[in-house]
Amino acid sequence: MATPCASIAPLLDNKTLDNHRSNELPQICEEFVLFSARRCLSSLRRLANETRTALRCPHDLVGRLSRHRFRAEFLLLPRILYPLPATPVMKTHIRSSLICLGAICLICSQAVLLAAEEAKIVFISGTPSHGPMTHEHRAGNILLAKALNAADLSLNAVVLPENGYPKDPSVLEGAATVVVFCTGHRGHLLNAHLEKFDALMKKGTGVVMIHWATEAVAGKPGDKFLEWMGGFCDLNWSVNPHWKANFKTFPEHPIANGVQPFSLNDEWYYHMRFVKDMVGVTPILSDLPGPETLKRSDGARSGNPDVRRAVAAGESQHVAWAYQRPDGKGRGFGFTGAHNHVSWQDDNFRKVVLNAILWTAQVEVPKKGVPSATPTDQEIRENLDDKRRK
Ligand SMILES: [Zn+2]
Repeated sequence: MATPCASIAPLLDNKTLDNHRSNELPQICEEFVLFSARRCLSSLRRLANETRTALRCPHDLVGRLSRHRFRAEFLLLPRILYPLPATPVMKTHIRSSLICLGAICLICSQAVLLAAEEAKIVFISGTPSHGPMTHEHRAGNILLAKALNAADLSLNAVVLPENGYPKDPSVLEGAATVVVFCTGHRGHLLNAHLEKFDALMKKGTGVVMIHWATEAVAGKPGDKFLEWMGGFCDLNWSVNPHWKANFKTFPEHPIANGVQPFSLNDEWYYHMRFVKDMVGVTPILSDLPGPETLKRSDGARSGNPDVRRAVAAGESQHVAWAYQRPDGKGRGFGFTGAHNHVSWQDDNFRKVVLNAILWTAQVEVPKKGVPSATPTDQEIRENLDDKRRK
């Protein structure tokens, strides 16, 4: 048996304890309780790391932990203390030590259960695209995941280490919502995995699509996007100009919690293809684009008669929307901004997306929205894709 700490060792070696040495017991017992507490915390840290990196089913982790680590670490105490001679002084201290350790075990088992109940949020990043500081899929995802994990909201946000659809789809199991930030249309990472992803959506998993990820090929992919998040960016219908949108009012919706009016220049795609009669769709960010956004001639993403008519008629355009699926179980959110990586430094822009991630994960959004620190200029330049490989 491994020696737990230096002060216990001589006692184990000499079972004929005299009164003089028994005076040392209070200190020894305290040391042992502290030692056990440290081991306990270490186990919890390992659990948190494994949950974040391995992304296996939390129940498996809890099971493994309870079977091996807790048994090994907490059943150790009686085995060490029982062989000692039972003087009245010892009995008192053994009893108090066991009570302390029992309390620690109880607190830790509760912490493990809480860890297992954390909402798992998985971020999928597309392969590099566009120039530096634009379409920064991975860096954007990391900023959002960091903000969620720092928000003290029982969330476990994980950015998958590989770009593209995960080779091991089991990492998506148990996810409350999946955030997808990637190239769209024919290059969309979901195109080859529609059936698998659809099975996940049918279980009630949420989805958030950011910027180009909202653009689907019309037909089966587009139809699936409509089922999952109520709308998508459709060629020869939607447009992709860069313009400064002014968001002045917001709906009564958890995603708008704490969001103040803001304006920001980005490549806000608009004139999305939505489900019939917008059933289940709640526009979150809307504005009427100016005529300068349609100066280009008609083309797949530059203009078409339908969008020109809509803007001329003064129809407000929705660039972020929430969708409650008709099955009542799942939720989706589409967000067309985030071409410019620096947009994440806008507190309201960021808050809308963080709130939406919680909402699609069916986690209560705080009244003031998800708190997050503004990324510094240095932080905004971290984790950027190496665009030289393109
Ligand atoms: Zn873009």
